[in-house]
Amino acid sequence: GFKCGIVGLPNVGKSTLFNALTQTASAQAANYPFCTIEPNVGDVAVPEPRLLKLAAIAGSKEILPAKMNFVDIAGLVEGASKGEGLGNKFLATIRETDAIAYVLRCFDDDDITHVSGKVDPLADLETVETELMLADLESLEKRKAGLEKKAKSGDKEAKALIPLIDLALAELTEGRPARFAKVAKDDEKAWRGLQLLTTKPVLFIANVGEDDAATGNAYSEVVTKRAAEEGAEAVVISARIEAELAMLANEEREEYLEELGLHEAGLDRLIHTGYKLLDLVTYFTVGPKEARAWTIHEGWTAPQAAGVIHGDFEKGFIRAETIAFDDFVAHNGEAGAKEAGKMRAEGKEYIVHDGDVMHFRFNV
Ligand code: GDP
Repeated sequence: GFKCGIVGLPNVGKSTLFNALTQTASAQAANYPFCTIEPNVGDVAVPEPRLLKLAAIAGSKEILPAKMNFVDIAGLVEGASKGEGLGNKFLATIRETDAIAYVLRCFDDDDITHVSGKVDPLADLETVETELMLADLESLEKRKAGLEKKAKSGDKEAKALIPLIDLALAELTEGRPARFAKVAKDDEKAWRGLQLLTTKPVLFIANVGEDDAATGNAYSEVVTKRAAEEGAEAVVISARIEAELAMLANEEREEYLEELGLHEAGLDRLIHTGYKLLDLVTYFTVGPKEARAWTIHEGWTAPQAAGVIHGDFEKGFIRAETIAFDDFVAHNGEAGAKEAGKMRAEGKEYIVHDGDVMHFRFNV
């Protein structure tokens, strides 16, 4: 599954948001095994109205949404890269994520201490990112020394990596995250292989007070502007409101959202933005037993997509039978779509599209 780390200074609303996310998940799908593996790790159901429609048409007994994994990464303070606070442990946790969501405090409240004494979301972002940049700097400098030795004794792979390390170091020493480096297409794989903290895709969560949930405020505007300048994503959310929404049943939730002037719960916006950020798409498997949504990267082939269900599906892949979501609905299910000639047989090269309903044929 895909894993998103929730990162930010203390007292910005990370836990409030994380708890709202995971509570909503367990409340909305009572018979789905949402496990909170640790207090700070949770799977969240990806809101997907198309899945409900498919299940209704096929009369599926069970509905299994796709999941996104969130980790509440506490303990980031100035000096973390040098082992302050929870230091290294939390850097290791960030390393395992696919994306980082920075929670930035965009609410005034004299009762809630701000670690630096002043609400300033961009300054907070800088404090947090600086720790990640310092951690990257240190690890690159260590690796570079080793690689240079190897390169001298004729190791070609080591030699090829050095320019990439220099590229990352050039950004970092200028005080910019390594994701701003311009990497040649051919080098992208090796670049990802460096596994830096500051090359991960980022999302800014502007946590505004209850009264600003629908409109945002001056703080969140600054955050949104920064995201636009960087080509990053930003979501304006009130963690406190989300926590309240999480306690409500579906109908009440709709009413409350309307009252607040919100079209969609912040958590739904957050997850959808995460999909966009990571270039994720959804395909479905639908039958009388269950209807299920699966998450893959845009551009994945049918065997790769099958591999998400089970490794054997990828290894033994023969072909896929595919119906586009719209065709499945327009012809009232698989039998109708098949009759109308809308079920396609696709081979190993087929690129799975968002919304495809798939049947995989494979050898065991
Ligand atoms: P964390 O340390 O980043 O995990 O922050 P918490 O989620 O524990 O929140 C710290 C405090 O800020 C708690 O008392 C929250 O209730 C409060 N808080 C979180 N979001 C908001 C908000 O939008 N408005 C206000 N006034 N307080 C908030």
